[in-house]
Amino acid sequence: MKINEIFYSLQGEGFLAGVPSTFVRLAGCPLRCKWCDTKYAWDETKAAHYSIDKIVKTVDNWPCRFVVITGGEPMINPDLTIKHDLPELVHKLKNSGKHITIETAGIAFVPDLACDLMSISPKLSNSVPADPKLVAAHENSRLDLSVLRELIDHYNYQLKFVVDLQDDLPQIQQTIEEIGNVDLEKVMLMPQATTRNELLAKSPMVAEMCKRTGFAFCNRLQVLLWNSKRGT
Ligand code: SF4
Repeated sequence: MKINEIFYSLQGEGFLAGVPSTFVRLAGCPLRCKWCDTKYAWDETKAAHYSIDKIVKTVDNWPCRFVVITGGEPMINPDLTIKHDLPELVHKLKNSGKHITIETAGIAFVPDLACDLMSISPKLSNSVPADPKLVAAHENSRLDLSVLRELIDHYNYQLKFVVDLQDDLPQIQQTIEEIGNVDLEKVMLMPQATTRNELLAKSPMVAEMCKRTGFAFCNRLQVLLWNSKRGT
């Protein structure tokens, strides 16, 4: 599998924020969100090739039960065998007693994943790339309602929406309505921020939005504590 990095830190986002976790970051992502905080993971040609056993062995370097498989976009690894490799990786990690979270934009469905938590972050129009040449491809693939429905039907999940502006709320509510069957207690709103200053500036606006809607506030501890330094 194409690996960008494996490291130990705290889970920064979602309902498990603050839990010490080992991160397995797969390389590659077909989206090019303008505020992406892991652009260094886009280029799979710079990734290292790891066997599944090597990933499991590396993860075991840290005495930690919680594992986060992230990206890039881990459900669309450039390796075409992802539909076999990802379930096998999750299965082997699970067999070694790990709790597995998979972080995805929700643009591809992979069945038979023994994961404990599917952390889905559907992309809104606020993520459209700055480069006009990338806009059409991004717009065509950033949101797939049928994939989102499959993910929430098959896995325990959380839905994290990235909020950039007040005006994002109607789009979030419309997306939830269109997906249908969403457990509203699993919805989180997270400020769009790649720096500590940006996070502190936008958090009060998102907090008020959460109080109005009842959705949970989603922090970004990796930004707050380490200002998005790589490997955190
Ligand atoms: S989907 Fe995630 S990894 Fe891919 S470009 Fe968007 S924010 Fe970055």
